[in-house]
Amino acid sequence: MRGIRQKIQENTTKCGLPANSTIRAEGDARYNNSTFSAVGKTSFQAATQVTYTMCENVTSKIKVIAVFCGNKLCKKGEVLRRRGANVTCPDHPDCTANVAADTNIGNEKRWAGECIREIQRDPHSLTVSHLTTDGDSAAATGASEIQGQPIENLKDLRHFFESQRKQTSKAPFSASMFPDRTKTDRESVQKRFAQDLKMRCRSEYENAYDHYGGDIRKLTRAMSYVVDSILTCYRGECGRPCQKHSFACKGLKKSHWKSSVLPKNFKLNVNDNDEHLLRDCVNLTLGPKNLCRIRFHTSTQKCESVNRAYLRSNSKCITSSRNFEPKIHRVVHSLNEGYGNSTLKLCEAVGAPVVKGGKVVHLLKQQEKRQAYFRQRQQSKL
Ligand SMILES: [Zn+2]
Ligand SMILES: [Zn+2]
Repeated sequence: MRGIRQKIQENTTKCGLPANSTIRAEGDARYNNSTFSAVGKTSFQAATQVTYTMCENVTSKIKVIAVFCGNKLCKKGEVLRRRGANVTCPDHPDCTANVAADTNIGNEKRWAGECIREIQRDPHSLTVSHLTTDGDSAAATGASEIQGQPIENLKDLRHFFESQRKQTSKAPFSASMFPDRTKTDRESVQKRFAQDLKMRCRSEYENAYDHYGGDIRKLTRAMSYVVDSILTCYRGECGRPCQKHSFACKGLKKSHWKSSVLPKNFKLNVNDNDEHLLRDCVNLTLGPKNLCRIRFHTSTQKCESVNRAYLRSNSKCITSSRNFEPKIHRVVHSLNEGYGNSTLKLCEAVGAPVVKGGKVVHLLKQQEKRQAYFRQRQQSKL
């Protein structure tokens, strides 16, 4: 990872930027848990191991630049305590734990800080200017505290629009807004409406982003009109405002925003109070302040894919106390270097190098080429 950080710095200087210029990064945490429950409802984290991954967001390959592994487990300490010795875990010799047992494992603020500390430890240290995270912004706060320079928090697109959906489905609209008789029906329609509004806002944002090439000033200006057009469109007055301002609805009789989740000819009965609430809901993503948080179209997708790749050697529900960190680093190495290169380098490092020019090298190189080809193919938008 040190090599990669150095390379990023070299590339920035090649681009004509100063060597100490800042980079954008994304970060996400992953928890290992021996008692894993159903997905989605994790109000309480009983995890004992945490992996915080930070990826750079400046090159097309998006490499992992820092990983922090927090581990609470220690077999030796357990045995010693059972024998009656008075040991606390991270403090005794040969301890595998690096986090005290009573620390809060969900503390993303601290783990992100540890990643920044790792980055700063080597002489080619990078400075992070923007950190994309999901959900809360605590990670960015923690990271900027360690770095000593402010880091701006950006939001992951998927999580950002998802939180808009949740808030819209809970918003206290008046009973007359949805044209259904019973309360259960109205609630169900409100949920569907929230889903539709999320999709509408997302597609407005994506189309406008492409249209203006990511120019945030023009985007904000355009979106201020779009908000009005969305409101009139849902009121059933689709037409001129959509034709003029919307990026998702053409406002024509034959071609307009078609909802896949709402009933046909769906219309909202909006009074003043409802309109106010609805406008707030739309502004959750398209308002100028919130638009600023997603202005670079960044996401934490790479971190999530890295988290999935960890499954290769370290399952989420298995907590090995000693080999946890090496397992994680093995995966990161193979992701950064490519599978073939990583295997060759590891073999060399343990003193059993693969003979050059042999069949094995040829096969591994071939595999690598195929991987690179598919990656490039996926990235090209054609
Ligand atoms: Zn210990
Ligand atoms: Zn429309």
